[in-house]
Amino acid sequence: MALIASLKNAGSPVFALVDCNNFYCSCERVFRPDLARRPVVVLSNNDGCVIARSAEAKALGIAMGAPYFKFRSRLERSGTAVFSSNYALYGDMSSRVMSVLSSYTPDMEIYSIDEAFLRLDGLAGRRLDAHAQAMRRQVRQWTGIPVSVGIGITKTLAKVASRVCKATPACDGVFDMTRYRDSAPAMDRILDSVPVEDVWGVGRRHAARLAARGVFSARQLRDLPDDWVRRHMTVTGLHTVLELRGIPCLELEAAPAPRRTIVSSRSFGHPVEERSDAHEAVADYMTRAAAKLRRESLLAQSVGVFVRTNAFRQEDSQYANFVTDTLERPTDYTPHLLRRAAALLDRIYREGFRYKKVGVMLSGLEPKFGRQGNLLDCLPGEAEKDKARDALMQVSDALNARYGRGTVRYAAGGAGEERRWHMRQAFRSPRYTTTWEELAVVG
Ligand SMILES: [Mg+2]
Repeated sequence: MALIASLKNAGSPVFALVDCNNFYCSCERVFRPDLARRPVVVLSNNDGCVIARSAEAKALGIAMGAPYFKFRSRLERSGTAVFSSNYALYGDMSSRVMSVLSSYTPDMEIYSIDEAFLRLDGLAGRRLDAHAQAMRRQVRQWTGIPVSVGIGITKTLAKVASRVCKATPACDGVFDMTRYRDSAPAMDRILDSVPVEDVWGVGRRHAARLAARGVFSARQLRDLPDDWVRRHMTVTGLHTVLELRGIPCLELEAAPAPRRTIVSSRSFGHPVEERSDAHEAVADYMTRAAAKLRRESLLAQSVGVFVRTNAFRQEDSQYANFVTDTLERPTDYTPHLLRRAAALLDRIYREGFRYKKVGVMLSGLEPKFGRQGNLLDCLPGEAEKDKARDALMQVSDALNARYGRGTVRYAAGGAGEERRWHMRQAFRSPRYTTTWEELAVVG
């Protein structure tokens, strides 16, 4: 039986979408088993609003994006565990999950911090189900993170399957829609149950236009005439519709698209009114951006700095500015980037404003290796200097990776705790997996 089913499917693609359940909350729970049944929420930068909720928190009616200050007493009364976001932890847990998944297929696309598409061609029926369940169990066992798996013959249908899976406890974490590919009534029923705005790629903008035409479900979208879709939703929308019909239009993105820019910026926990504080923040963000540049073996040709006040504080005078500058030669050397960023900040910084946000941008990115030489590279001694700079950056990156970010830092970035502009993070959990001092202790 299984053999017949797999022969029947031979040659057509099978896409699985693996999605970590309530990812940030699940990461927090891995190291706090006492929270297994308690509601958990995670807050955005500066503890502003709720960006992740455990199933129990959803059941309490805590909405996505709910402002923390409004819900604070309700969260306290219900015994909800509240966390500031801890991206060092989430990023590291994500790469652990992805590395388990990658052992199940050679074809995988990491779609976001908590989602990946996998090609599982050649499997069908019970074998496909068993494969997906084994994957789920292993991710859970090795990382502690619960995932759900949606399977379909296109990426868009895999997304639909994943949504159905999460809404249906009886699925036990896996929903394989390829089983119903030849049953029109079953496909209709499934697609009827999915609101059109929840279809991958539709979004709120298209949903309004679709509603005006009386289209509210994924099935109604699937059955629209092609020319109407092309006219109102462009060729991207047409791909979505074809995919709902089971015609694959979207391939896995093997490697993430090359970056065009690196932006590093945050909103401040408290308004910044001192030039020296703004300089520290710019230096800190540039240090991070440069480290990211080197991790991806890129060089930047252009540096940008931006500043802005808080537009929501109408009683304050408002100012925003952005300036960029081109470097003589592309670089990934932090001290050069810091010097340039500091000069740019001085060009746009104005006294007398309360700044809410500053940030840096690196653009004109190109691969470090195999790039075309620049006339300046040929100046006497320049190659040796480059080598020394590379060695210095490698050592400081390695120390920071091993002992925690900020082990080696630049004096311009300010000295740790006294940084007044720092983000508000009252409830951040330890960086259990990436910082020696914060490892979980057993016993
Ligand atoms: Mg998720």
